[in-house]
Amino acid sequence: MGFVVSGRCGCGYVAEGLTVGVGMRNTPGVWLSPCLCRTCHQPVSANVLAKTLKCPTCKGKEIMPFVDPESGKDEDEAFPDCRASEPLFEDRFACPACGKKSLRFSFTGMWD
Ligand SMILES: [Zn+2]
Ligand SMILES: [Zn+2]
Repeated sequence: MGFVVSGRCGCGYVAEGLTVGVGMRNTPGVWLSPCLCRTCHQPVSANVLAKTLKCPTCKGKEIMPFVDPESGKDEDEAFPDCRASEPLFEDRFACPACGKKSLRFSFTGMWD
């Protein structure tokens, strides 16, 4: 089960439809999380459990997860769970448009 978030900044920048988590099929080794691609200058939803983190848009490797997928994870858990995404709603992040740390994410719906 996953969910969809959107990012908004006071400068008017909006990033919609970023998927978090896993889909219905619960594919092992897949956990999508919003990442910032330095090549695209866009937040993208990428598989943070992949051995090599890649941007799904440009296939580039200049990509950084907004939050550490391991945060909030218990030791015996095989996957990050939704708690790992909580910092996404608590913190502010660097906006790809204006560069200020004022990009905020909000929950927009479920995804499966
Ligand atoms: Zn990219
Ligand atoms: Zn901005």
